[in-house]
Amino acid sequence: MAVPKKKTTKSRRDMRRSHDRITLANHVECPNCGERTLPHHVCRSCGYYRDREVVTGAGS
Ligand SMILES: [Zn+2]
Repeated sequence: MAVPKKKTTKSRRDMRRSHDRITLANHVECPNCGERTLPHHVCRSCGYYRDREVVTGAGS
């Protein structure tokens, strides 16, 4: 069985983990209701996409 020859130090371990953080999804403000939505997606709050309603009765 393959076993590491040397102990991974806290420093090396933490350096490896420096890239492990998760990033927040990108958000843009809906021009209709101001809700934060994903770009190129229908607004989940008001159902608008590019200045017109495409989903009726979505949310409030
Ligand atoms: Zn909206």
